[in-house]
Amino acid sequence: MKTLRLILGDQLNIKHSWFKKSDDSIVYCLFEMRQETDYVKHHVQKVIGFFAAMRQFAEVLKSNGHHVVYYKINDSNNKQNLLDNLNQLIQDFNIEHFEFILPDEYRLDKQLHTFTDQLHISYTSNSAEHFYTNRNDLADFFEGKKQYLMENFYRDMRKKHDILMIAGQPEGGKWNYDKSNRNKWKGEVKIPSYKWFNNNVKEVVSDIKKAKIITFGKFKNDTFNYPITRAQAIDQLKYFCEELLIHFGTYQDAMHTDEEYLFHSRLSFAMNLKLISPKDIVISVMNYYRKHIEDINISQVEGFIRQIIGWREYMRGMYWAFMPNYKNLNELDNTNKLPDFFWTGDTKMNCLKHAINNSLDNGYAHHIQRLMITGNYALLTQTNPGEVDDWYLGIYVDAIEWVQLTNTRGMSQFADGGKIATKPYVSSGSYINKMSNYCSSCHYNHKNKVEENACPFNSLYWNFLDDKREQLGNNFRMKMMYSLLDKMDKQDLQKIKEKAKHIILNQDDY
Ligand code: FAD
Ligand code: SF4
Repeated sequence: MKTLRLILGDQLNIKHSWFKKSDDSIVYCLFEMRQETDYVKHHVQKVIGFFAAMRQFAEVLKSNGHHVVYYKINDSNNKQNLLDNLNQLIQDFNIEHFEFILPDEYRLDKQLHTFTDQLHISYTSNSAEHFYTNRNDLADFFEGKKQYLMENFYRDMRKKHDILMIAGQPEGGKWNYDKSNRNKWKGEVKIPSYKWFNNNVKEVVSDIKKAKIITFGKFKNDTFNYPITRAQAIDQLKYFCEELLIHFGTYQDAMHTDEEYLFHSRLSFAMNLKLISPKDIVISVMNYYRKHIEDINISQVEGFIRQIIGWREYMRGMYWAFMPNYKNLNELDNTNKLPDFFWTGDTKMNCLKHAINNSLDNGYAHHIQRLMITGNYALLTQTNPGEVDDWYLGIYVDAIEWVQLTNTRGMSQFADGGKIATKPYVSSGSYINKMSNYCSSCHYNHKNKVEENACPFNSLYWNFLDDKREQLGNNFRMKMMYSLLDKMDKQDLQKIKEKAKHIILNQDDY
C-alpha cells in the first residue's frame, strides 16, 4: 500500500522504528514552511538551525535508501502550509495510507486532527519514541491530587526507571542535592574551551533571506554552532561528560559576565529536535559516572539527571494535562508591555544586559538567566504573560511550545496560579548579587532601594509583593516575605512604590 509518512522539523529521530529498513512503497516528507517560520517572530539562528538540521536529516534518510520528498522554503511546489502540502503529495503519489508521529505541540496536533478528520484514506499515528513518558502519563500519575509537585513525579521516575537507585533507595541517601548546588562561580575552577561545530549554513541563510522571513537576533560567520546531526549531538554529549559534568551541579545556578555557558550542556536544541534522546543522554552520563565514581560527586550527576527525567518530562506532561487553557492563564492579572530593550539589550541594568545580549547573540541563555534575570524582571514589572511567552518562544533556539510555555507562563510568570511553582520565582538585587558578578560592574547599587542609583529589582520586588497581596498573601511559602513587608515603615513603602511605578512606566530609561 502506497504510504505517506510525515516528519516534522522537531522529529529528526533517526533511531525511530520507521527507519529500520527502506521500503519502496513509503514516501517520507519534510517541509520548510512559512506557517512554521511566521507563527511567532523567531531568532534568526533558530530558523537556520531547524532548516539546517532538517536538510541534513533528509540527506541521511536518502543515503539509507529511503524515498524522501523535501520542500525547501523557496521551492515552487511548496504551498507553505502543512495541510496543503500533504494533500498535494497524496494526490501526486496516489497515496493510500497516511502516517504521522504524534506532534508535541498542541497547535500541530489540532492541525493534524483537522487533516485526518477530512481524509478519505486510512491513517495511523505513531509515538515519537523519544520521551520516557507518554503524553498523558503525568496527568494519570497526579489524578485526584491537589498539587502537581515535580519532586513527587521525579522520585517516581527514578524508581520506575531505576536511575540512581540502590536497593530501592536513592543513591547517596538523598533524592535531592539542590542545597550543595548553589555556588557562585568566581573563576576558581577553569571552564574548558567551548566545543563548537561551525556548521556551514551559507545556503540556508541565503534561502531565508530570499524568502524574506522576518527574524531577529544576531548571526555571524555563516556558521551554526549547536549540533545539527546525531553524530554531533553524541559528540557534544561526550564533551559534556568528559569536561563539564564534574562541576555541573555546583555551578548550575551561577551567572558570570565573561562566561555565557559555564558548565551547562547546551544539548537542548539537539534534544528538542530529537537528534538525541533523553535516554541516550541519561545512559551516557550514568556510564561515565560509574567509570569515574572516585572523581565525580553524586550531587553533580543527580543535578543533571533531575533536569532530564524530572523537569523536562514534567513540563511536557503538564503541557498536555492543561492545554489548551494553559495558554491563556493570567492568574496575577498582569498587563504591562515588555520594554524595547528586550530586543536590543540596551539597558543600564547589567544583569539584564548580559542575559539579553547573550540571548540575542547566541539564541541561548542558561536556566537561571531565563528564570531569575529576564523572567524575574518581567514578573516584577507585571508584564502580560502573552508578551513574555512570545519573547521566549522566539528567542531561544531550543524553544518549542510544549517546553517553553510551561516554563515561561508557569514556572517563571506564575500565571497558572501555582500549578508548577509553589511560589513565584521573584527576587530583589541581593539574590542576583549572590549568584553572579553582575552587580559589581553595574550602573546601579544592589543595596539601595529608592536612591537615584538604586537597583530597580529592589523597589520592583517590594512593590510586586504589595500589589499582589490578594493573590499571594495566603501563600504559605511567601509568609516570611509578607511579614517583612508588613513590618516596613509605611512612608518607606510609599517611596519604594513610587520608585517602582516610575520604573514600570519608564523601563527603557533604566
Ligand atoms: P542544561 O542546564 O545543561 O540542562 C540539561 C537539560 O535539561 C537541558 O538541555 C533541558 O533539556 C533540560 N532542562 C533543564 N531545565 C529544564 C526545564 N526547566 N524544563 C525542561 N527541560 C529542562 N528549555 C527548552 O528546552 N526550551 C525552552 O523553550 C525553554 N524555555 C524556558 C523558559 C524559561 C522562562 C525558563 C526558566 C526555562 C526554559 N527552559 C527551556 C529550560 C532551560 O532553561 C533550558 O532547557 C536550558 O537552559 C537549555 O540549556 P542546556 O541544554 O545547556 O541545559
Ligand atoms: Fe542587576 Fe541590580 Fe545587580 Fe544591576 S545592581 S546587576 S540591576 S541586580
